Amino acid sequence: MTNNAKHVPLRSCSICRVKGSKYNLIRIVRSPEGQPVIDIAGKLPGRGAYICPDSECIELAKKSGKLAHILGVRNIAPEFWSELESFSKNFAENRNIDLTNRRLRALIGLSRKAGVLLIGVDNIKNFTHKVLVISANDCSESVRNFAGNYQTLTQSISTDELSEAAGSPGKGVQIIALPLSSGFAKKILANNERSIAFE
Ligand SMILES: [Zn+2]
Repeated sequence: MTNNAKHVPLRSCSICRVKGSKYNLIRIVRSPEGQPVIDIAGKLPGRGAYICPDSECIELAKKSGKLAHILGVRNIAPEFWSELESFSKNFAENRNIDLTNRRLRALIGLSRKAGVLLIGVDNIKNFTHKVLVISANDCSESVRNFAGNYQTLTQSISTDELSEAAGSPGKGVQIIALPLSSGFAKKILANNERSIAFE
């Protein structure tokens, strides 16, 4: 096996599908007894799944039954979920990853799946309710000016990241919006406050 500093193996979170370095994701495997186990050292063999160190993704994994399904496990004990939740908090801190950016992208992806995401200037313009606008930090001047008419998010995200999160990888998505009344907008704003607290 060759190793060089620039090579970062990428994996997708099994729950929100956001891609990231596998070292920033938690790997969970199925034990021989058919229970999920956190692969702390990243060396356990067997059927595995990656998940963001993020309570949002863990909650969804739990509610949707997706993790159990991927691992082929029938019932996941409540103790496992609390263990995973506390492990994920330490994991994120220890790795000092940009958790709030990952969380923002995951929330955008989830809001798209929920059908509340507005993509592009025209869709935002034609929407009649109040919205939270997120524009890319590398967007054009006209998009920046347009965004100035709305409540915007100060958190930084690139066009590439925004495109991927909005389900259009490589399509140059420069601006998106969510209804301010949606739970996702509230979560994104709360996440943004957390990112300010980290700075
Ligand atoms: Zn995730």
